[in-house]
Amino acid sequence: MDLYRLTIHEASKLLKRREISSVELTSAVFDRIEEVENKISAYLTLVKDRAMAEAETADNVIGRGESKPLTGIPMAIKDLLCTEGIRTTCGSKILAEFVPTYSSTVVKKLKDAHAVIVGKTNLDEFGMGSSNEHSAFMLTHNPWDLTRIPGGSSGGSAAAAAADECIGAVGTDTGGSIRQPCSHCGVVGLKPTYGRVSRFGLVAFASSLDQVGPITKDVTDCALLMNEICGYDSVDSTSVPHPVPDYTETLRSGLNGIVAGIPKEYHVEGLDQDVSQAIGNAIKALEGLGLTCKDVSLPHTEYAVATYYLIAPAEASSNLARYDGVKYGLRDAASGDLMDMYRNTRSKGFGPEVQRRIIIGTYALSAGYYEAYYGKASQVRTLIMQDFKKAFETCDVLLTPVAPSPAFKLGEKLDDPLSMYLSDIFTLPASLAGIPGLSVPCGFSREGLPIGLQILGKHFDEEKLIRVAYNLEQATDHHSRKPKL
Ligand code: GLN
Repeated sequence: MDLYRLTIHEASKLLKRREISSVELTSAVFDRIEEVENKISAYLTLVKDRAMAEAETADNVIGRGESKPLTGIPMAIKDLLCTEGIRTTCGSKILAEFVPTYSSTVVKKLKDAHAVIVGKTNLDEFGMGSSNEHSAFMLTHNPWDLTRIPGGSSGGSAAAAAADECIGAVGTDTGGSIRQPCSHCGVVGLKPTYGRVSRFGLVAFASSLDQVGPITKDVTDCALLMNEICGYDSVDSTSVPHPVPDYTETLRSGLNGIVAGIPKEYHVEGLDQDVSQAIGNAIKALEGLGLTCKDVSLPHTEYAVATYYLIAPAEASSNLARYDGVKYGLRDAASGDLMDMYRNTRSKGFGPEVQRRIIIGTYALSAGYYEAYYGKASQVRTLIMQDFKKAFETCDVLLTPVAPSPAFKLGEKLDDPLSMYLSDIFTLPASLAGIPGLSVPCGFSREGLPIGLQILGKHFDEEKLIRVAYNLEQATDHHSRKPKL
């Protein structure tokens, strides 16, 4: 048996029965990394020695009969989440040497459950991108076709899960950064409701949008990981004290009585034929399982890209002001005076996409323009939220594509920021509304590239997304297909 292929729930069962040890499982994952990482480049940092020690501790915990579902499970963490004692670069030169003195709440929860941290995965700098090509350090390749992007910004985590370089992973999503790479890499990803998972220790990109969520090989694992990472956190002022259900309970429920809306605005001109077909097939399969579908309209969808690309850069420009070469991160010490030091540090430390966003965001927030740009975008954001609210008066979930096409070629959109931004068209509205969204594999293109179905739901109704996704997964075999590496 290839241990690295296991899902969390499969590995957890074997660990608990002591048929395998976490040390064996973790070694198998590092062997796998050794074998394929030169093709994928999913990890910015690997911490093998630490991981092996954590695996040993986990085996002792299991031996004492105190294990939890994540105990001893090798996990990959997006390098935007602080990990105590492990370099956290955010994919940026400005934090290339930054070693946090504390862990983010999500990482702490994983550690408390005695999960094993394998390493930190690649991303677009500070999460700004849809292809991982904006990482300051390296290109990550899509395991299904090495000439293509894995998606972004959690591309390293999604590629690591798809290539079996970890058992489970964690990503973050501001405008689609969990869902889109999961769709492109053929794995399951969930962006929880804003406020569902603590953002403490998640390096801020756009604070009103950022969320942490699971990236897993199947839907059961998504539920297990949600059980572990959700919940109120007093050190995150936007965390919501909403009770956390056992997300695995919902896996046993069928689809009778669930109404799904199919938003007509998501079937735009230019939608790839294979994507459209895969989504159509998934909807048919779900209807066959008892789901009721109806057409709905979300009329303000077309403004989502423009709205997001004002709000997110505006918040980013403010959040990134802290990287001034004074307290931490890169400092251009050779500069003459303070102003030079600021300018040189930030010019050298930030890549072109981050600089572009800081410029757009600073402009949008500047005196005289604030109302016209940030203020107007906030108003449109409310209209987008109201669209969803109205749709959810008659629907439990909405079904849409995740991305307008399967994974594109490396380099294809790099010189055309607008076309890169447009690839977020289906994921941005849910981010702006703060509602949860899940990407589940629903088919393959003629070229053999994975395609994801996006399931959206009401605030704090992640259970229904997991339920619909699980039923689809059980009725199809997309999740059991593996890339040939
Ligand atoms: N691709 C989007 C952006 O570039 C979303 C990124 C994300 O969700 N972190 O901003």
